Amino acid sequence: NSVTFSSGTWAAFTDELKSDHAQQLTIITLLREDIRNGRLHYHIQPQVCLRTNKIIGGEVLLRWHNEQLGPVSPAEFVPLAEQAGLIYPLTEMLFEKVFVWASQHQDLLKTTSLSLNISALDLLQADFAQKVYNSINVHQLTPEQFTLEITETSMFHNNDIVNNNVEELHKTGFKLSIDDFGIGYSSMLNLVTLKTNELKIDQFFVMGLLKQKSNQYLCQNMIHLCQQLNITSVAEGIEDQQTLATLKDWQCEIGQGYFLYKPMSPDDYLLLLQETLCE
Ligand code: C2E
Ligand code: MG
Ligand code: MG
Ligand code: MG
Repeated sequence: NSVTFSSGTWAAFTDELKSDHAQQLTIITLLREDIRNGRLHYHIQPQVCLRTNKIIGGEVLLRWHNEQLGPVSPAEFVPLAEQAGLIYPLTEMLFEKVFVWASQHQDLLKTTSLSLNISALDLLQADFAQKVYNSINVHQLTPEQFTLEITETSMFHNNDIVNNNVEELHKTGFKLSIDDFGIGYSSMLNLVTLKTNELKIDQFFVMGLLKQKSNQYLCQNMIHLCQQLNITSVAEGIEDQQTLATLKDWQCEIGQGYFLYKPMSPDDYLLLLQETLCE
């Protein structure tokens, strides 16, 4: 692909940039409005114990359907929320919704776990851990029911506030998980020193498992690492039977992916739990 420095190409390029920028500003404005009015919701993707094939919990995933924009993927709007200083209100709004819902269905949920994604920027809020803990208590839930997923990049902030939050969350009984492991900035040191309970192997390796030997080696070694450190191993992005069988073979503990279950509404998730608890 050759780059042409003709004025025409340049004009087209800047126009595209401008419209991109304008589009982002529109998204941010609408997002701010919808966060304020609690108009975002969430789906839950079940997680399965690969030894027993039983559902052990689920991951909460943000969903946003804006009146004007239609559905927008979290992969798109979460980074924008982070840039625009909206991630903390977004996390707070989502957690409140999930905690209210969870407290209404404690009978079904209490023996399972719920994973919640948090942003690195949430951990930079000095009162984050305290606030989450308080709101758990208000809703008569227990921290042990919840796993907080932190993407590897957040470990990059070797920051006192982040470390205090992590320490506090760990101390109060929340489980901590490193999301998208293998593609970010995490180091072995972080893995051991931070209070990690779980490691989620990035989908990139899981999806490429059957295609490339290098992905097999990496996956298998990440599972081994978990076993050695006594950390729960989770594989996400399981899309076919053969990948599932391979991961079971390697004694990966928990699986998540379209081949098992797709993300679903909280109501459907409760129905599924009800069915499987009756089995
Ligand atoms: P993530 O936390 O790594 O979540 C896993 C993503 O992979 C989800 O995409 C899920 O729907 C998708 N997925 C699960 N199984 C499969 C599979 O078998 N195949 C494929 N192709 N995809 C699969 P989703 O819901 O679009 O979320 C994308 C990302 O957005 C998340 O990645 C997470 O980084 C972020 N995100 C979602 N919800 C939240 C949230 O509440 N807070 C924050 N901070 N970030 C969130
Ligand atoms: Mg996640
Ligand atoms: Mg992930
Ligand atoms: Mg991800």
